[in-house]
Amino acid sequence: MGAEEKTNFTVDASKCIRCGRCVAVCAGIVIEQGEDGLPHMLPFERFGWRG
Ligand code: SF4
Repeated sequence: MGAEEKTNFTVDASKCIRCGRCVAVCAGIVIEQGEDGLPHMLPFERFGWRG
C-alpha cells in the first residue's frame, strides 16, 4: 500500500489550481508536484520533520 492510500491523501483535481503552495509548505517534504501539476505524496517510512 502506497503513502497516499495509507494517509488517505487525495486532491480534488477539479479544485486544485496547481499553485504548488502545498509542496512549498510541507514540513515533511513528502509532497511533490507531478507532471500533471497535481500534488502527489512521496513514499516515506513515517511522519517526521525533515526541515
Ligand atoms: S497545488 Fe496544493 S496548495 Fe495549490 S491548489 Fe493544489 S492542493 Fe491546493
